[in-house]
Amino acid sequence: MSDDDIIHWQDLLDAVASGRVQDLRCPFCKKGEVVVDKNVERTRLECRSCRRFVEGRFE
Ligand SMILES: [Zn+2]
Repeated sequence: MSDDDIIHWQDLLDAVASGRVQDLRCPFCKKGEVVVDKNVERTRLECRSCRRFVEGRFE
């Protein structure tokens, strides 16, 4: 994962941080549903369509 990718995920990370975990659209393929897997260790967002993902601690 590059820093450039983070920029594309940022809007979704902000949405997830504010409690939104449904109806998230992939910023890359624009059509895939993004699944949120969140626990105390890390947050992971993954597109069901193109399989791009971001993972880490985002607060
Ligand atoms: Zn996608």
